[in-house]
Amino acid sequence: MRCPHCNARRDRVIDSRDSEKGAAIRRRRECLECGRRWTTY
Ligand SMILES: [Zn+2]
Repeated sequence: MRCPHCNARRDRVIDSRDSEKGAAIRRRRECLECGRRWTTY
């Protein structure tokens, strides 16, 4: 998974959880290069 901000490949999964009803899994990620965070589904 690439950082959408700086395109770095190094990231870290902070948290992953099933959404309610279990349809999608959201993963909170943090870029190790620029430090920004985002969420993937
Ligand atoms: Zn980044």
